[in-house]
Amino acid sequence: MSFEELGLIPELLRAVADTGYTSPTPIQAQAIPVVLAGRDVMGGAQTGTGKTASFTLPLLQRLAPHANSSPSPAKHPVRALIVCPTRELAMQVHESVKTYSKHLPLRSSCIYGGVDMKAQVAELREGREIVVATPGRLLDHVEGKTVNLGQVQMLVLDEADRMLDMGFIPDIKRILALLPTQRQSLLFSATFSEEIKKLAQAMLRDPQLIEV
Ligand code: AMP
Repeated sequence: MSFEELGLIPELLRAVADTGYTSPTPIQAQAIPVVLAGRDVMGGAQTGTGKTASFTLPLLQRLAPHANSSPSPAKHPVRALIVCPTRELAMQVHESVKTYSKHLPLRSSCIYGGVDMKAQVAELREGREIVVATPGRLLDHVEGKTVNLGQVQMLVLDEADRMLDMGFIPDIKRILALLPTQRQSLLFSATFSEEIKKLAQAMLRDPQLIEV
């Protein structure tokens, strides 16, 4: 199995080749075609399995403008939202987004707490198609009207079990209520407790279960 066989576009294949990866990991081989097809996913994968690229690569492809599409709007609404439990994970995921999107005209921001909001506000005001965020700071921006989630087409919830352990489920529910119901959603978790399954039910539509 090669990355080419997964149906990724040349811009992404070039970015993958630049990283030096030679073949997809099992979660990548399973998840990438399913996400490219537009389906919701419930993914069971630990850190270290290559799960970040398994959602980032197809997410970028689904956002990538087609050669014959109409010119992009002057404003760049947030079209993909990736929610992470910690600042460290958000920063790691954002590094992957930047690495894999380097040959695509897509811009991203990393939004987390514990730092001044000003720089984040300035980036969001310029327009970012992709936002990687921790829940609390994202909601601060929603309240301050410095981000609008009304045009999000893709949602990723990474490490959902840690979100639960950290007490973020009420925040996640608030975020879900701000998103269009017509969207593609992916949930990743190392474990599937009853609470995670309940969250998945509230968030996913006819998900494909992928476990590695
Ligand atoms: P993750 O599970 O997303 O945290 O990724 C774990 C590590 O595996 C990261 O350092 C990635 O850069 C690396 N990685 C991801 N995909 C591949 C791949 N297909 N081949 C080799 N390394 C990979």
